[in-house]
Amino acid sequence: MMEGSCLCKAVTFRVDAHVSRLYQCHCSLCQKQSGSTSNTATIVKASDFRWLAGEDSITKWQRETGFSSHFCKTCGCPVPNPLRNTPYYWIPMGLIDANTDDSSLEKGAQVRVHLFCKSKASWDTIQPHTERMYDEFVDNIDSFIQDLMQLKELPQQI
Ligand SMILES: [Zn+2]
Ligand SMILES: [Zn+2]
Repeated sequence: MMEGSCLCKAVTFRVDAHVSRLYQCHCSLCQKQSGSTSNTATIVKASDFRWLAGEDSITKWQRETGFSSHFCKTCGCPVPNPLRNTPYYWIPMGLIDANTDDSSLEKGAQVRVHLFCKSKASWDTIQPHTERMYDEFVDNIDSFIQDLMQLKELPQQI
């Protein structure tokens, strides 16, 4: 289980699942959306996700291609959103609160996949030897979700 919130705490949510597989997307859109080098996120089943508060504080911007950015109306912080037409939610990991009662998250969660390595900013250092490094995207969103979910859990770090 883990809980997260936006900057102003208007939007809060909860994930009832063990999360250990994270990915980073270094594409030009994620650079702008995050205002940084990449988005670090995970994907969870919609059935394991729920809003605790502030769903009505969320607004979104969508690109014609389907990329969408959902964010808090008050503080502009990106927030989770349903992944296109899949039964999954996208969870930006920076929103997870440190007091979350999930020791497995602290010990086991690691970035396992890097997307759009070809588009990365010149100052962006990608950790070498990550199992999955893609120049662009995986074939399609369904195969990406399957790929991420099938990665074996790594031994916990102490
Ligand atoms: Zn907010
Ligand atoms: Zn991206």
